[in-house]
Amino acid sequence: MIYLDHAATTRPEPSVVEEMISFLSDNYMNPSSFYQPAVRTRMQVEKARRTIAEFINAPYESIVFTSGGTESDNWAIRMGAGILKNKGKHIITTKIEHPAVLNTVRFMEEQGYEVTYLDVDKTGLIDIENLKSAIRKDTALISIMHANNELGTIQPIKEIGAIAHEHDILFHTDAVQTFGHIDIDVNDYCIDFLSASAHKLYGPKGIGLLYIRNKNEFSKLLFGGSQELGLRPGTENVADIMGFCKAVTIAKDKMEDDAIRINSLRDELKSGILNIVKGAVINENDRCHLPGTLNVTFPDVSAETILIRLDMNGICASAGSACSAGAIEPSHVLMAIGKSEDEARRTIRFSLGRENTRDDIVKTLKVLEDFYR
Ligand code: PLP
Repeated sequence: MIYLDHAATTRPEPSVVEEMISFLSDNYMNPSSFYQPAVRTRMQVEKARRTIAEFINAPYESIVFTSGGTESDNWAIRMGAGILKNKGKHIITTKIEHPAVLNTVRFMEEQGYEVTYLDVDKTGLIDIENLKSAIRKDTALISIMHANNELGTIQPIKEIGAIAHEHDILFHTDAVQTFGHIDIDVNDYCIDFLSASAHKLYGPKGIGLLYIRNKNEFSKLLFGGSQELGLRPGTENVADIMGFCKAVTIAKDKMEDDAIRINSLRDELKSGILNIVKGAVINENDRCHLPGTLNVTFPDVSAETILIRLDMNGICASAGSACSAGAIEPSHVLMAIGKSEDEARRTIRFSLGRENTRDDIVKTLKVLEDFYR
């Protein structure tokens, strides 16, 4: 198998799995219990929280473990917007957010909030001047993703954070695609809430985090005991937390080298496709993109047809469209960058990761070459 779908999920590192197994077997104690083995488990969980917090330059007590990116996005927006309810009920986001954000702000509209959906250019980038002019006296929250999951385009979140804080607006960023892949500094970027998910950085599924700058103003997600600062109670998912921490420890070590190597494989795939497939279009911002994400609109045939051919050759990639209610809907991201429905249906996302080699790229290009011959 050649796996080119790392933006969807990543294979957990063997040492992540090993770490998790130890906390599912011998170290199974409830961290809230009082005897020594449980106290040791508690200390491990808190050490993991510290390691992960340091990774984004956050204080240790500002990290709350969640079930993943979707939960963190929902919580940040629903509770975050409420903090400044006396200021107003206006939220700014973009047209290319993940459904975890878009469907949450739609819910907020039903609750009486007004939402501005910023346009993006054909590379997927917002215009900072548009953001400034969208800000109103009653803007309570800006939620803009760090990098887009289909295009890989990285937004200027440092600038966005500074603008938000200048106007006393809270700033949430969905960093699910960037956490563990490129640098994040929550202080330098003036981030108030940040969502991340372990399965995108070679960790387990079903565990993520929400960074909360000022937890005193933040409402609980659930009612229960005192775990997770009392904000999201319930017995901790210890094995997943430890797996997440292991993945972060590896990312600390490998992130820079991975980015350089993966980006050069991406360049090779990109130039190979442009050489082989006349009329292929790369949908990217070539100055600020994730190292591994390559979004391509192919000529003549549907993405499904190409994906089936790739699949028959053991190559996994994704279409730029989501299947809803039995119909293939063109991706809202591709529509927002100005693609036609037809172009959107001919678009494929390749996303490369740590395990990929030059050989994977050569084989993928060969399959495409045979297909288009
Ligand atoms: N946000 C972005 C940008 C994503 O790419 C994803 C997952 O694909 C999510 C949120 C949802 O994360 P999770 O799968 O952890 O719920």
